[in-house]
Order: sequence, then structure tokens, then C-alpha cells
Amino acid sequence: MRKKILVTGGAGFLGSHLCERLLDEGNEVICVDNFFTGQKQNVVHLLDNPYFEMVRHDITMPFFIEVDQIYNLACPASPIHYQYNAIKTIKTSVMGAINMLGLAKRINARILQASTSEVYGDPEIHPQTESYWGHVNPIGIRACYDEGKRCAETLFVNYNRQNNVDIKIMRIFNTYGPRMHPNDGRVVSNFIVQALKGRDITLYGDGMQTRSFCYRDDLIDGMIKMMNSRTDFTGPVNVGNPNEFTIKELAELVIELTNAKSGIVYEPLPSDDPMQRQPDISLAKKELNWEPKIQLREGLLKTINYFKSIDLTNI
Ligand code: NAD
Ligand code: UDP
Repeated sequence: MRKKILVTGGAGFLGSHLCERLLDEGNEVICVDNFFTGQKQNVVHLLDNPYFEMVRHDITMPFFIEVDQIYNLACPASPIHYQYNAIKTIKTSVMGAINMLGLAKRINARILQASTSEVYGDPEIHPQTESYWGHVNPIGIRACYDEGKRCAETLFVNYNRQNNVDIKIMRIFNTYGPRMHPNDGRVVSNFIVQALKGRDITLYGDGMQTRSFCYRDDLIDGMIKMMNSRTDFTGPVNVGNPNEFTIKELAELVIELTNAKSGIVYEPLPSDDPMQRQPDISLAKKELNWEPKIQLREGLLKTINYFKSIDLTNI
């Protein structure tokens, strides 16, 4: 049956793919975005679809609509962008969650929160399981995002406990793919753009810090499965690819796959940059019957082809 679905942050990297998938599956989608890091270009191809609607709106302000499901993705995700206006980032996570949870409560909609592996901070246990409470510096430069997302999780579980709101919390680990903004500042887009432009690759620190990279299609599969999972499974659930790489290995792979002549330059490691990150996805496997299918080499090739197809002249 056709569902009416609200996607906040729907003009962003993950949100625009989610809108596309939900429309393909026969749903009606309302995309809400303030275009801070998202772009109209990401959804322009959807505007002709009579079941798609784009609304410019900032979720720090209340929003009224009748829908069956809400995916709450609105929030800048790249460290450069979320640190640009730290207070606004906190407002988006916290006031945005309050507004969307209030809406879900009133209209009886199911609501999914796009949370993050950043709730684990610079983790002391490895890989990270959902039962780990995290290691976050509350006054550091990443705190506006980490603590904002942690508070949003707290709001979600309490709207569930107190008001019986039908919630889902998903902790997303580093996800990449076509439609990342070339100026986004995240590592995969930075390295690919640098390689394609023949510039040196900027490695922060010694490059020995690790991340586990998930291709966007796998992530969106997991997100839709989580939204439609049984009611008493609220999460949080980790969704990501457990294959772990050092950032140096990523740089070398991007150079190899692009045939770039780029060298590697070392720049200072930003403060509080997590040293390791790898999801334990046992819970997602068990509850959602989900695991990623696309490994880094294949996903990077698709992403490189995307960046080759767009105009990088002014980047
Ligand atoms: P993105 O920056 O491309 O998308 C975020 C979208 O939210 C943008 O379109 C932006 O304009 C919009 N937005 C920001 N503040 C808003 C506000 N106040 N009101 C309305 N819209 C607003 O990032 P993304 O990678 O697509 O991330 C989507 C979500 O997934 C975010 O909540 C992010 O925290 C979460 N997440 C992503 C990753 C990842 O690796 N991509 C990892 C963990 C969590
Ligand atoms: N990074 C890097 N060079 C860049 C961009 C990022 O070495 O040009 C590093 C960054 O310091 C971090 C890792 O890559 O250790 C992932 O960074 P990103 O901003 O993509 O995500 P996050 O730190 O939030 O996982």
C-alpha cells in the first residue's frame, strides 16, 4: 500500500537517495530541507513525479503535515559543515528532534532517527557494539554534532517511554557514494576530487586512524529495513560496513583506482579525531537480516565514475 513519507534532509547525499528509493517502491514522499548542505540538484530529477513534493523548511521550526512515516536525516554530516555553525548544528539535532517527535506523536507516525557512530566518540572498545556508551569529549570541536546526536537519541527513547511514540534509532557508520558534495570535506570525496584534479592527497595525522566505509545503496537498504522492522525493535542498531581500513590505505586505493599522479601530503590531525571505528553489525544481521554487499573497491569505482561525470572546474 502506498505510504505517505516525510524525509527531513531529503535534498542531501543520503536523503536524496532515500527519497528516490521510497518513490521507486511506490510511496508518496515529502522532502523537507533548508539547503544548508543539500542541493536542489540532488532532487531536481524527482520534481516531475506527482508523488514527490519538495518543501524548503528548517526543522528547528515546527512543521505540520499528515504522514505515515518520518525519516529524520536533517543535519550536516561533514565535520567542516557541522563545525561551521556549531550552535545551529546542536539546534538542528535537538530542536529538530523535538519538532519531529512532537509531530510523530500527534499524527501517530513511525519515526526513524539517522544517528551516528559518532555517539561512540573516540571509542575505547573495538569494534563498537550498541551496548557501548561511548567516549565523547563534551566540550571539544566535534561535540556540537556528537552530543547533539546523543541528545536526539535520548529524546527518541523518552518519547517512546513516556508517550509510546513508535521510534527507530539507527547508528550510521561512514557512508560514501555518488552525489556526495565535491566540497563536502569528508575523506572519500576529498581524496577522489584531489586525485582527479591531480592534486596531492591531504592525509591528516599519520593516516593510521581507521574507518569502515559503507556504500550508500547498502546503507539505504538497511535504513528502509530498520524503518519497517517489527514494532518492538526500536534500536539503536549499527548500520555500516565492518571492513576496516586505515585512512592511508584509503588514500593509496584512491590513487590506484584513479591512476592519479598525486603524492600524499601530511597535515595536522584535527582534535578529537577518532583513532578507530568499526561497527559490530551482529544486531542488524539478526534483527534486520541485513549486511552490506558492496565492498570498498567496487563502491569507490562507482563513486569515482560519478565524480568524473560532474563538472569539477570550480572545485
Ligand atoms: P548531508 O549534509 O548531505 O545531508 C544533510 C541534509 O540535511 C542536507 O540536505 C541539509 O541541507 C539538511 N539540513 C541540515 N540542517 C537542516 C535543518 N536545520 N533543517 C532542514 N534541513 C537541514 O549529509 P548526509 O551524509 O546525507 O547525512 C544525512 C544524515 O545521516 C545526517 O543526519 C547525518 O548526521 C547522518 N549520518 C550520515 C553519515 C554518513 O557517513 N553519510 C554517517 C553518520 C550519520
Ligand atoms: N581525513 C583526511 N584527509 C581529508 C579528510 C579527512 O585524512 O582530506 C581523515 C580525518 O582526519 C578522519 C578520517 O579521514 O580521520 C575520516 O574523516 P571524515 O571527515 O570523512 O569523517 P569522520 O571523521 O567524521 O569519520
